[in-house]
Amino acid sequence: MSSKKLTTSAGAPVPNNQKSLTAGNRGPVLLQDYQLIEKLAHQNRERIPERVVHAKGWGALGTFTVTNDISKYTKARIFSEVGKQTKMLARFSTVAGELGAADAERDVRGFALKFYTEEGNWDVVGNNTPVFFVRDGYKFPDFIRTQKRHPKTNMRSAIAMWDFWSLTPESLHQVTILMSDRGIPKSPMHMNGYGSHTYSFWNNEGARYWVKFHFKTQQGHEFLTNEEASKVIGETRESYQEQLFGAIEDGKYPKWKVQVQIMLEEDATKTPYNPFDITRVWPHADYPLIEVGEMELNTNPENYFQYIENAAFSPSNIVPGIAFSPDKLLQARIFSYADAHRYRLGTHYEALPANAPVSEMNHYHKDGAMRFFENGSGVIDAYYEPNSFGGPVEDSSAQEPPMKIDGDITRYEDQDVIGDFKQPGDLFRMFNDEQKERLFSNIAAAMSGVPMEIVERQLKHFDAADPAYGAGVRKALGI
Ligand code: NDP
Repeated sequence: MSSKKLTTSAGAPVPNNQKSLTAGNRGPVLLQDYQLIEKLAHQNRERIPERVVHAKGWGALGTFTVTNDISKYTKARIFSEVGKQTKMLARFSTVAGELGAADAERDVRGFALKFYTEEGNWDVVGNNTPVFFVRDGYKFPDFIRTQKRHPKTNMRSAIAMWDFWSLTPESLHQVTILMSDRGIPKSPMHMNGYGSHTYSFWNNEGARYWVKFHFKTQQGHEFLTNEEASKVIGETRESYQEQLFGAIEDGKYPKWKVQVQIMLEEDATKTPYNPFDITRVWPHADYPLIEVGEMELNTNPENYFQYIENAAFSPSNIVPGIAFSPDKLLQARIFSYADAHRYRLGTHYEALPANAPVSEMNHYHKDGAMRFFENGSGVIDAYYEPNSFGGPVEDSSAQEPPMKIDGDITRYEDQDVIGDFKQPGDLFRMFNDEQKERLFSNIAAAMSGVPMEIVERQLKHFDAADPAYGAGVRKALGI
């Protein structure tokens, strides 16, 4: 028998939690049985809006440890000394699947990290791929629409996907990764993560560097073929949750090496690719990976909903020493991710335990849903700024150095020297024969039912990346 007393949410003891209050032995039930109404009403409110994308997720808490000194590039305190540890939260996800979707589906995986640093939360909201389907936030809602359900059939539509991709050649790099072995990792532990966007570092001297973040799995890359994935899904829809949760419960903590690529600020105008275009990578030969640290996931939260469903990651969460870049998709996500959380969780979503910083939080935002915390300033008369009552004030040391930008305002055609096909071709040429065969057959399977006109348009993109790429897909399609 528990010694803990069951109470109402207002803290009063509950005399009976088994039987409704009725007038007579056979009923009816009385409206005054408030605890009954409260139980039913709470159950009706147990779901919050599901994320429009990345609804199905798996995550854990962990630790980031610095293993190499990069403080010459950034003043971010998280990197200030070798051996320094920072608590963190990771959430992995599929993009298109809803909350109950099967885990082992072919899709890009979200790779979202929150580092609870002493100067506020730093979020890296990337994927398991270094690139993305579109380079401009203007196309984001349309692209996502092609991944979700058709308005009439209420089913996902291969026609919509290939129609959009074939009309958007910049997508080929990401499509190639999606259709390759890395399109169905065996578990979240068996994949890399990438910050994907270009960000900046800035140091104590006020110098800016462009930076890309890489998270390399220490469990090795493992993947499922389409056939293996069908079998897994037939047996369990929760294969990722089972593996990640199980590994951490068993003390087999998954790890990733954290690495960066660094580009001098002035080099951004010299590369044949636009270094701020998320459909491009920076080749390792030009910008080698520099070791930074290691990330380990070692704690399953006691309450999945509290830490993983309530987790709100946003690329807008940066800390002094880390800043944005002109990357057009990043610029859109800076707004849209935080806004998604305001809608999904409420105005003060950052006060929830999963999202609250470990550092002091002093701001002048007022009232609204979930305003359950004190006035941060601790000074009752300082509820606006500037004020004469000792309220929190700005800290100019957090001001990043000026970012050099020039150009006229217009809507630009983003074309660099290398174009949309070189890097997908480089990736294709890296695959061995078996990897290429699986790529061809995965694409052919995904194109099932797509009209020939759309298939032909897409085949031209494969040809442009590498003639052998187009030829292989044609053969797999039986053309
Ligand atoms: P490198 O040979 O130096 O690097 C190749 C990279 O490809 C490695 O990071 C490897 O990851 C990764 N890789 C291997 N198989 C796949 C796959 N199926 N899907 C996605 N990535 C894969 O070459 P470059 O830097 O010159 O890049 C060549 C191509 O490699 C690029 O066009 C790009 O498509 C891809 N790539 C490049 C990355 C970069 O940041 N430069 C990052 C990831 C991919 P790992 O080390 O984990 O095995």
